[in-house]
Amino acid sequence: MDFAREGLRVSNSVFMKRLFLLLTVVASVSVHAQQLTPPKPAADPVRTLVGRLELEKYKSTIKGLTQFGDRRQGTERNRKATDWIEAQLKSYGCPTDRIKYTLTTPARNNNATGGGGGGGGGQKPPDPIIASGEVRSGPGGSRYRGTTRRTGVNNDPLRQPDEKLRALNTEPAKDGEREEVYCTKVGTTRPDEMYIVGAHMDGHGWGEAANDNGSGTALVMELARIFSSPDVVTDRTIRFALWNNEETGLNGARAYVDQRAALQGKEDPPGSGRYPEPKWLGMIQHDMMMWDHGMPRADGTWNPEQRPEADVNIEFQSTAKRADEAMKLAFLFREANEKYATDYPAAVGPHMTNTDSTPFMDLVPAISLRENERGMHTGAGWNPTWHQPIDVFSTFSDNDFRLGLNAAQTTLAAVAQLTGTKLK
Ligand SMILES: [Zn+2]
Repeated sequence: MDFAREGLRVSNSVFMKRLFLLLTVVASVSVHAQQLTPPKPAADPVRTLVGRLELEKYKSTIKGLTQFGDRRQGTERNRKATDWIEAQLKSYGCPTDRIKYTLTTPARNNNATGGGGGGGGGQKPPDPIIASGEVRSGPGGSRYRGTTRRTGVNNDPLRQPDEKLRALNTEPAKDGEREEVYCTKVGTTRPDEMYIVGAHMDGHGWGEAANDNGSGTALVMELARIFSSPDVVTDRTIRFALWNNEETGLNGARAYVDQRAALQGKEDPPGSGRYPEPKWLGMIQHDMMMWDHGMPRADGTWNPEQRPEADVNIEFQSTAKRADEAMKLAFLFREANEKYATDYPAAVGPHMTNTDSTPFMDLVPAISLRENERGMHTGAGWNPTWHQPIDVFSTFSDNDFRLGLNAAQTTLAAVAQLTGTKLK
């Protein structure tokens, strides 16, 4: 009996061992099966954020800016536009501050709006064709090629056919105190380092400054809105700056550099963990974002449609002290465009000029995004709305607005990666 019991015990024990082995094999097979099935990918926070940019919201922000006419510096309409921008930024949850400076127009340059314009009403090209087929040098190291048209600033109220808009734009600029607004998204782990995302909010020419530079201003405001969402966390700080006085010679951006460059990276008060001016890691400017209709035609007219080859032009300045790093930054933006922009590609060029990134370019890697290259395209007269009465909201089609939106997608994606952006 004892043997039998013993035998039973033995066979029981063998059975248990076999069962255990079998279960181990089953478990191990199932682990392997799990490993073969790819894990569910975590949602890409950059793609989620880019998806929050909407054409209709971008358009309505531009539309909001056009209620202040051409927003010429040194006027009530310019000050009201600054107040309106600040109110929007606050409503997005982005804390604001202002830079104050004084503008004194040098005596020799009292006609601040410069030449150009004159004569005629309505939607005619601003000036005749001045060259065709000739190669000449343009601003920023560029060269003009093909058909070019003379450019200038319209200074003639009668060329604005809309009487209400003409009345809104009547007050002339006066020298004196100036203000410009910015808002800041503070980084969680590196609050002492920041990227500056900028655009100028002033304009001129007796229109609505819809493209120059409602398009860049709205882009920066849309990014401020998205990055300020309560579920967005960034390692580094981002500052959204809406420069004033770009059109009088970059005075607002220069005032910022003059007043704040020396404050970079200083904790104030000491031990507070607060950095009123984090160390600048890069400056990204947006100026004229929507119109890429190609070269002027030989007869002085222009293509009324966005050209299908339209692109976002990312420029750095090859003569800047920080040119090599700016070039790398420009290509990082181009890559962000390839990965995240929905409609239009981006191209990189070395002739950044005549924009608010210029005062930064020897101190920090600085780039600008535009609809065209500032030198060889804009300077050669590719945009007939530039500083003209036809720079009004109704001039632009959805294909134009969408180019601006694609630039917004590009900058949002690049800055989100550079600042270590995550979603809560
Ligand atoms: Zn501009």
